[in-house]
Amino acid sequence: MHEPTVRVQRANRSQIRVMFDLAESVDRDLVRLEVGEPDFDTPDHVIEAAASAAREGATHYTSNAGLPECRRAISDAMASDYGVEHDIDEIVVTVGGMEALHLAVLATVGPGEELLYPGPSWPNYETQAFLAEGEPVEVPMPVEERYDLNADRLIEAMGPETGAVILTTPSNPTGRVFDPEPIRAVVEAAADYDTYVIADEVYAGLTYDREPRGVAALSGHPDHVLTVGSCSKTYAMTGWRLGWLAGDRSVIDEATKVRESTTACASSISQHAAIAALTGPQEPFEEMYEAFERRRDYVVDRLDAMDGVSAPRPEGAFYAFLDYDADAEALPFAKYLLKEHGVVLAPGSGFGEAGEGRLRLSFANSMDRLEAGLDRLAAGVSEY
Ligand code: PLP
Repeated sequence: MHEPTVRVQRANRSQIRVMFDLAESVDRDLVRLEVGEPDFDTPDHVIEAAASAAREGATHYTSNAGLPECRRAISDAMASDYGVEHDIDEIVVTVGGMEALHLAVLATVGPGEELLYPGPSWPNYETQAFLAEGEPVEVPMPVEERYDLNADRLIEAMGPETGAVILTTPSNPTGRVFDPEPIRAVVEAAADYDTYVIADEVYAGLTYDREPRGVAALSGHPDHVLTVGSCSKTYAMTGWRLGWLAGDRSVIDEATKVRESTTACASSISQHAAIAALTGPQEPFEEMYEAFERRRDYVVDRLDAMDGVSAPRPEGAFYAFLDYDADAEALPFAKYLLKEHGVVLAPGSGFGEAGEGRLRLSFANSMDRLEAGLDRLAAGVSEY
């Protein structure tokens, strides 16, 4: 039998998925803090807009790049919310941020070239590199520096073999929002090597202590930045699968051409939903952000008061990345917490080498669930 290709075989199964499956298989009450999506449903005005668009005939293919009015809404939102300026011809509407990343990596990382990213990082970058037949390279950022972006360390790892560098800010899993200075330095180095920074900004609307600014807006070389955005996290729309890639025309044109053979276009109905989310009333989203901020503050206070656990203060997204005081690797420790204490966290080792010995807690959960989950975590750590 002909073997599946190496590029698909190299893709690893995510450890978050391992915990998810384990949680589904046990028969006990669990507090699930491992999942990375808002617990809020999509607001009604977005659902109504999508339903009426569908009733009025928006049930057909759109152009590969997406509806012009959807790209206009994205362009306006990027400019006003994050200071990133793009013409609608420099934007392709994608099936989630996931497809935008896939297209960006395919367009920039050639076979054998490296895809660099600071760790701990979202596990899918590694798979994206494998699918492009490139080499993923995690450059660890230590907890002692609160997982902040150390530009020197990342630039040292860059070279002529670098296809692209991914910067995720705010970060999944650490909740860190990178400072402007190191971002500028990394983009400058990418421009010197004539390569790209892929700015994964799917959490850009979720910053708590500072105004969100896009990587492209912070650097002197916006033409060397490809911005990935999404309605998933910021607008509670994970199931609509609606994201975008924005950047230099040469890359966007190629990405738009390639996607004709994979997804063809993002869902027409979801594009109408995105227009409503981006241009309609913002109050439901603001209430959601306020809820996330209150939960962030609650989680930080509880962790500060807990023996044997610590975490740098998350500045964005909805994750706290915990250090625990137990001599155990992250995956077996997460399994122990699930089986013995009924709380589910994502093992940090699923986020690369720099995540080993840590756990990711998602605070996209109600206060009641967070309270119960943190009680169980405290009991688990002290009893271990
Ligand atoms: N980037 C990061 C860092 C993520 O955490 C996720 C989802 O968890 C994505 C991209 C992709 O999200 P989506 O495809 O739902 O837009």
